[in-house]
Amino acid sequence: MKYVIALDAGTTSIRAFLYDAERGVFVHGAQQEVESKYPFSGWVEQDANEIYFKAAYVLNDCLAFAKGKAAGIGITNQRETVVLWDRETGEPVCPAIVWQCRRTSEFCKNMPQDVVQIVRERTGLTNDAYFSASKIRWAIGHVPAARTLLKEKKLCAGTIDSYLIFKLTGGKTFATDVTNASRTMLYDIHKLDYDEDLLKFFGIPREILPEVRASDADFGTANVGGSRIPLAGVAGDQQSALIGQAALTEGEGKITYGTGLFLLFHTGERCISSKSGLLSTIAYQIKGKTCYALEGSVFHAGSSVQWLRDGLEILPSSAESERIALSVPDAGGVSFVPAFTGLGAPHWDSEARGMLTGITRGTTRAHIVRAVLESIACGARELLDCMTKDSGILLKEIKCDGGASQNNFLMQFQADVLGANVNRPRERESTALGAAYLCACAKGLMDFGDISARRECERVFVPKGKREAKKIYDAYLIAEKRALMHFDS
Ligand code: ADP
Repeated sequence: MKYVIALDAGTTSIRAFLYDAERGVFVHGAQQEVESKYPFSGWVEQDANEIYFKAAYVLNDCLAFAKGKAAGIGITNQRETVVLWDRETGEPVCPAIVWQCRRTSEFCKNMPQDVVQIVRERTGLTNDAYFSASKIRWAIGHVPAARTLLKEKKLCAGTIDSYLIFKLTGGKTFATDVTNASRTMLYDIHKLDYDEDLLKFFGIPREILPEVRASDADFGTANVGGSRIPLAGVAGDQQSALIGQAALTEGEGKITYGTGLFLLFHTGERCISSKSGLLSTIAYQIKGKTCYALEGSVFHAGSSVQWLRDGLEILPSSAESERIALSVPDAGGVSFVPAFTGLGAPHWDSEARGMLTGITRGTTRAHIVRAVLESIACGARELLDCMTKDSGILLKEIKCDGGASQNNFLMQFQADVLGANVNRPRERESTALGAAYLCACAKGLMDFGDISARRECERVFVPKGKREAKKIYDAYLIAEKRALMHFDS
């Protein structure tokens, strides 16, 4: 067996990647866009059937290329999104409720304090509409077909991975993995079991939920267009990226610099609860060992660069930001805070607004561009400061990916401001790679311990101007205080 397949069921597209199992090298890929619908303000839905058919389509494409030499399929997926379906027919009873959907936000905001406390302590999450539980509750309460199936004991509810596994195995496997379960708000991440109190609170019977398996478990045999192939290895997208990046020991972390910035910090076998409102989550369960991570995000990262390009129109392209930032020796005292839609951890202030400070008559677009890039790295530093304080674990190294990680200026400044190495891999599709590794490990084609050796580094950014960077960070924190002042209220 030469290949493994990673199925990446993302929010905007479904992709299948064929990897050479021995060398972990990408060989072939197929992609299908997925449509999101916005029927009401704040609602986001997708068609679960479309997701399944497109998954089968891209898998077929890779299987045809593999010519019978694929050992298995690993799955990674958009997290939290829920599907409710008929156990007998596999037909969804309503559109999938996507993680971004805010229809249950009032309910979540008004949850009783004692339940909020249980959510925090047992699931590592916060009472937010983002997670699956309130979405499942909503569907049971509002979709008559869901209620009928529930009475007839034929209802299934789960995240995208569990739906795909169910469909691909012809209903034989109804299971999810621990990383996906840890995003439902129903799963006790310490006891590794659904929590009875939360199941009761949300009115969700345990029987309708998938069995929870390890990330490197066997998930049955898929039938894809007549080809039978094992399903092995499953993880939610952020966790899969952590594995793909080989950030597998305590103190390592990965940052994805996309539209927003997503940070996962490995805390080893300890589950740390955050005092800064960050999430605790299961990083993976592999070879019987459960590892945890702290998770945080900055809402706007690459999107601030887009704002320079499309809003202010002072950048021809996102990539040009590097050259323009480097055309000046510093940001000339300008600081920027990308609080376009408020600030997340550790401030959690949705009323905060963006800030551009320190402008003089001598300020040029290069200073502003540079300050914007610096602000992305400063946001990451602030999150990591919370994480190292919460956990007492020192940061060893950051592995980076996502569109803006191509920016050498940004990566160098990130290293400077963190005082830690920033390591950029050759293979940037970390999420899919993680699922491929999980599958290869589960099928015995490689050992989990070999992942680090497999990862090819393209460049390491070593901290240089730490003193200068500290000054810039301090100025950023001052500007951030101003962003929190709500001048308009
Ligand atoms: P997403 O998956 O969230 O759509 P991507 O990982 O594709 O995001 O990254 C796209 C984002 O990265 C955009 O917001 C873009 O402005 C930013 N970006 C891309 N290339 C660069 C670059 N060289 N320098 C700075 N920002 C960049």
